[in-house]
Amino acid sequence: MDTSQKHPQLKRSGDGQDGQSERPVACITGASSGFGLLMALELAKAGYRVIATMRDTANNGLLLRRAEEAGVAERIDCLPLDVTDHPACEETIAHIRSAYGRIDVLVNNAGMAIGGSIEEIPMEEWKRQMDVNVFGLIAMTRAALPVMREQRRGTIINIGSVSGRVGFPGYGPYAASKFAVEGFSESLRLEMLPFGVHVVLVEPGAYRTDIWSKGFDHMTARFREDSPYARFLGAVLRYSRNVARTAGEPQDVARAVVRIAGSRYPRLRYPLGRGAALSIAGKTLLPWKWFERLLLRELEKGD
Ligand code: NDP
Repeated sequence: MDTSQKHPQLKRSGDGQDGQSERPVACITGASSGFGLLMALELAKAGYRVIATMRDTANNGLLLRRAEEAGVAERIDCLPLDVTDHPACEETIAHIRSAYGRIDVLVNNAGMAIGGSIEEIPMEEWKRQMDVNVFGLIAMTRAALPVMREQRRGTIINIGSVSGRVGFPGYGPYAASKFAVEGFSESLRLEMLPFGVHVVLVEPGAYRTDIWSKGFDHMTARFREDSPYARFLGAVLRYSRNVARTAGEPQDVARAVVRIAGSRYPRLRYPLGRGAALSIAGKTLLPWKWFERLLLRELEKGD
């Protein structure tokens, strides 16, 4: 297959012309907004050749503008990729390999959050949640593994969540997807260490990105006053809006990812943010019955 036909951007890019990049190469999924966009910028600033993939490259305006301002635009290539399209995941990795000859870092960042009551969320929504957050991440990882294994070098950074450590009420599908990412990453870490490939879980608490408003819109659109869960979901929405308002700066996560990418022997887990540290410590240290009482009391308080 002529990989340059589908992704002509790769042929045009500076140091990829001879199929070898002198710079380390980082590929990011979901780079049109939020963490993905900021990670693309920070990795480029740190000297990486960045392959910023996104569902629709028409949405690359903000990334490219900020990259221009930072003087790193020529280090970033934008490629179209919907991670639920598994053949496209393989093609993307094949394109990167043929254009740059290496993949040093894969950041599996693309994700979305579906909330609501477990009883009322339709199965199609559960599947969509898993397709993006779990199977998309697995497809990208599987595509990159042979390259990294043969290089005997590479870091796979899976953007998990504190929701992969604690299952918060009202976000059952999201928690299920992020718990799946945790188990997958633990197994993969142990499988790949003998090949010199490191697998890392970044577990942010709440940070100010679009994921919140997208999730709220989705929950509000399905909200029904006559639902037996109406009061509970109202509390979840109030609580989440408050958390979103006081959430941390996503830039901190992007900078942490750059540090992890450059680490010679990164840890398996990096919980990020005060909320994540508190929730994980609470779950680890307290008897579950105390912990659940605390969580539900917080939810009832709302704000
Ligand atoms: P954003 O909504 O800003 O970013 C999510 C990105 O994923 C978007 O670029 C979106 O693209 C992309 N995406 C969604 N579906 C697909 C798909 N099928 N294929 C490819 N890309 C897709 O939110 P965040 O930056 O916050 O989210 C990034 C990651 O961080 C997610 O995995 C999320 O679960 C995780 N996270 C976020 C936290 C937070 O508080 N913000 C906390 C913990 C974890 P498009 O614009 O096309 O929809």
